[in-house]
Amino acid sequence: MTAPADTDLAPTPDQPGVHVAKPARDFPATGSYACCCGATGRAKGDDNVRDLVAEWIDHRNTCPHR
Ligand SMILES: [Zn+2]
Repeated sequence: MTAPADTDLAPTPDQPGVHVAKPARDFPATGSYACCCGATGRAKGDDNVRDLVAEWIDHRNTCPHR
């Protein structure tokens, strides 16, 4: 699996979503999310990114801005 340069793919409130990057197998994953309500988060490390994604999914269920 090849990972393209991803620095430009980080979500912003204008382009909400979640983005996870895993450059290499032995490299810690990084992730970030942004919501149209302005909530953002980022994390580094496989476990932290997993939590971040869970947080994002939870936020989408509780976001006041939809
Ligand atoms: Zn939100």
